[in-house]
Amino acid sequence: MTNVRVTLDSEKCQGHGRCYTLAPDVFGLDEDGYGLVQMREVSGEALERARLGVLGCPESAIALEEGV
Ligand code: SF4
Repeated sequence: MTNVRVTLDSEKCQGHGRCYTLAPDVFGLDEDGYGLVQMREVSGEALERARLGVLGCPESAIALEEGV
């Protein structure tokens, strides 16, 4: 199974927390409420949740890098 790398641009992140709500195993929140990546490589169901996080992020701060 191909893994996909998850990246989060902290310069873009405004701390809405939607990524964490949509995929709490893939994303977390730091002490200031900004998003961070907890699961750097995803596949299967975690990948599907990570995709929801990408779609749900209003700042387009999350990217998935396929084929790592
Ligand atoms: S949804 Fe986007 S802007 Fe909001 S915390 Fe997550 S990465 Fe940051």
